[in-house]
Amino acid sequence: MRKIFSLFIALFLFSPAFAQGKKNVIFVVADGGGPAAMGLLLQYARYAQNSPYADRTSNMEKLFSASNLGIVLNATKETIVSDSAAAGTHMAKGTLTYPEYLGMGADGQIGESLMKKAQKLGMATGLVTDVYLSDATPAAYAAGTDSRRKYEEISLSLLNSGADVLLGGGLNYFISDQDLQDDRYSGIFKKVPYRKDLEPALQNGLFQKLITSGYPLVFDKKGLKKAKNKKLIGLFGASAIQYSVNPAEYAPNLKEMTEKAIEILSKNEKGFFLMVEAGALDWMLHDNDQGAALAELLELDETLGYIKQWADDNPDTMVIVTADHDTGGFGFQYRKVKGEELNLKQEQGYPLYDKKDYSVKSNLDIIAKQTKMQRDMRAEFEALGEKRQTPKAIQDYLKANMGYELPLDVIEDKGDFEDSLKEVNKRLGVVWSTGNHTGSPLFVSFYGSGAPEKPGILHNTEINKIIEGFLYDGK
Ligand SMILES: [Zn+2]
Repeated sequence: MRKIFSLFIALFLFSPAFAQGKKNVIFVVADGGGPAAMGLLLQYARYAQNSPYADRTSNMEKLFSASNLGIVLNATKETIVSDSAAAGTHMAKGTLTYPEYLGMGADGQIGESLMKKAQKLGMATGLVTDVYLSDATPAAYAAGTDSRRKYEEISLSLLNSGADVLLGGGLNYFISDQDLQDDRYSGIFKKVPYRKDLEPALQNGLFQKLITSGYPLVFDKKGLKKAKNKKLIGLFGASAIQYSVNPAEYAPNLKEMTEKAIEILSKNEKGFFLMVEAGALDWMLHDNDQGAALAELLELDETLGYIKQWADDNPDTMVIVTADHDTGGFGFQYRKVKGEELNLKQEQGYPLYDKKDYSVKSNLDIIAKQTKMQRDMRAEFEALGEKRQTPKAIQDYLKANMGYELPLDVIEDKGDFEDSLKEVNKRLGVVWSTGNHTGSPLFVSFYGSGAPEKPGILHNTEINKIIEGFLYDGK
């Protein structure tokens, strides 16, 4: 009898329902991160000769391999292509809507976000992003408006959202010119390391509300590290936090913000809901800048490594990773080479297949060498003045900042910096289909407690329902 009883206890203890409580949700959104963009990270980790991963496996690959993977469609009420506002609304609220609508369904209803539902269940909640907090992906959890550009309303709704932790960029979206010139605040603005970049976005500033909101307020990495309270707002950039390709020393990265958010939120015994957005990724993809996008993906990957480890240590946690939409329609291609380029490549023993250059794995190493955004390179080089923009200067500049040496005669032929830069991108076998969003299907990964066994092909409103089910199940 006793034996049977112990067996019963053992079965109970090891049954999935017991082993996996349902407590915390960490929802990661790679903004603009369609399959090919995520593929850039997966391929870089695996195939680059100088892959920074000793086992050639990105954290994203480790997480996805251990997850239940699905495919997500993100069509809005009327359109195949989505923006972050509609996709954010679909996932935050579970209701179908139109592009530009933020936290409001196509029916005009505002409803309750996952964050609000979690709060009603007594859970702690937080939003983390590396772009501005009032941008669509985080704000979809707080706002309810028919335009993602109504910043006064959106920023106020963030302050009133009840979130315990709000970390990101976007001080611009809480202030007006008047706030910036107000003597009462000069002491506070002095503490803002990026104050020279501030360009107030509001007519009627919210700064007074922000500083009296009851949240401790921090503006840099040091302040973030020291923060010990149960509530926190961190604003680490005027708009976005400075990009990963050349980060600012004072600014925390996505992993550091996520770490602090989890440290604070996990003190709540009822668990937490945390949304983490890799938002600058979308901006780099809009710029069709693969080097800067890879830098954002590597920052995301470091964050995913931390999150997976935390979820492994706290198995009552579900981790969801997806994108809201694809941006840029990125890809690697093959292209036919001819003339001088063909001769040179053949001389160098460069691998060609039927005179075609199939983008080679070593291009991944070159892409990773990029030191700043291509947009900044253009501006910086143009500022040199015409006299100094010699073909040799172009060659040296591109080699130093793109890691690629374009032959001098090609540069002479192209004539200017812009066309030479385009040629480098072409020779890396990189293609983009647009500077906007595409309607590409997306990946979704569910990991840990409560992960649906076979997600299959979902619409992104269904991700909301899965997370909602987890929240209520756990209570
Ligand atoms: Zn976008």
